Amino acid sequence: MSERKMYKAVCSDCGRECEVPFEPDPNRPVYCRDCWAKRRRQRRRY
Ligand SMILES: [Zn+2]
Repeated sequence: MSERKMYKAVCSDCGRECEVPFEPDPNRPVYCRDCWAKRRRQRRRY
């Protein structure tokens, strides 16, 4: 039950192949861990 299914995807930011714990949505960009962290760090102003 602790087994995680990983899906292969290509990061929309750096273009690297990565694995994500969710099924990639073709209509949405997928990011690798590095890019997720990068994006999380950036705070956008409203
Ligand atoms: Zn990336």
